[in-house]
Amino acid sequence: MSNANLIPVTLIPGDGIGPEIIKSTLEILETIKAPFQWDKQLAGMAAVDASGEPLPQQTIDSIHKTGLALKGPLTTPVGKGFRSINVTLRKEFGLYANVRPTHTLIPGGRFENVDIVLVRENLEGFYAAMEHYIPVDDDQKAIATCTGYTSRKECRRIVKYAFDYAVLHGRKKVTLVHKANILKELCGLFLEEGRKVAKEYEGKIACEERIVDACAMELVIKPETYDVIVTTNLFGDILSDLTSGLIGGLGMPPGANIGEKAAMFEAVHGSAPDIAGKNMANPLAVLRASAMMLEHVKREDLAKRIESAIEKVVVHDKIRTKDLGGNASTTDMTAALKQAI
Ligand code: NAD
Repeated sequence: MSNANLIPVTLIPGDGIGPEIIKSTLEILETIKAPFQWDKQLAGMAAVDASGEPLPQQTIDSIHKTGLALKGPLTTPVGKGFRSINVTLRKEFGLYANVRPTHTLIPGGRFENVDIVLVRENLEGFYAAMEHYIPVDDDQKAIATCTGYTSRKECRRIVKYAFDYAVLHGRKKVTLVHKANILKELCGLFLEEGRKVAKEYEGKIACEERIVDACAMELVIKPETYDVIVTTNLFGDILSDLTSGLIGGLGMPPGANIGEKAAMFEAVHGSAPDIAGKNMANPLAVLRASAMMLEHVKREDLAKRIESAIEKVVVHDKIRTKDLGGNASTTDMTAALKQAI
């Protein structure tokens, strides 16, 4: 394929297991001749080590130019240090919808027939993180506060995205997940707008409502009853790890961050420092993220080839990394996928 037909994509290998799983994905994409031209850039700890900056301007400029990014996980220091680069990137590019699909791949586990797409609001809520301390007496950190905010516009946009997704993907139901009984304003606005949007899809897509704690319980007891879930930022972050657990852990589910002018694809999981550099990481989540990117650029044919190869390797040939109960290494799994595809 000539370079003129290739789609430019910013490639951020990321931290921890990021470079290993991104390398695996690139090998598989090369095998199927995916039409991407990579512009490799740094972010996170890798960028701090190289330039002292967690998010160099060059990386931002690249995404502005390409409008597409494939990203490995980035480490965020806990409790101190720079603010999450993931959150900053979502904000910078207005990536308002975080789409996280999970479905049962390996039969015979604790949870069968899980097929849930979680749509998380990606820009507002408590993750806007207006945090500060209030000193009391001599204690400078006696009280910590965090202000969350939400806007009618974003509530409407995210719920509409979920319903449109449901229509486009032949789904039957959208569940609005909230905590409007306690957070009457912050979640109340989400629910109010959600109900209005749901009315516009009456007769096409069913709508249910769940309070987030009840939803968490039901996801464990009867996950097969959920279809598309749409929820606010913090709840979506937590529930998407829960839905990942339903299908065998964080090594599997991908995530797409969708905006009007840019889209960024990544695994749901983080940089997994405990297994970094050990050739143990499951490469499937980021591979699936690349399949979502192929769908996004209308190459569903190549996305389907990836999904079929995963099924052959993991389900039929039972080649699995440790997190899935097997003993294959990242490179074993990559080799098997390259052969199956
Ligand atoms: P994590 O997702 O990195 O790891 C949680 C557990 O899951 C670990 O035991 C890890 O070994 C395992 N795991 C994760 N991915 C795996 C894979 N592909 N194969 C096999 N096992 C896997 O979560 P954490 O430990 O809470 O976070 C580590 C760092 O990642 C933190 O700095 C956090 O801020 C960051 N993080 C980044 C993103 C992102 O870049 N989108 C998302 C979540 C967390």
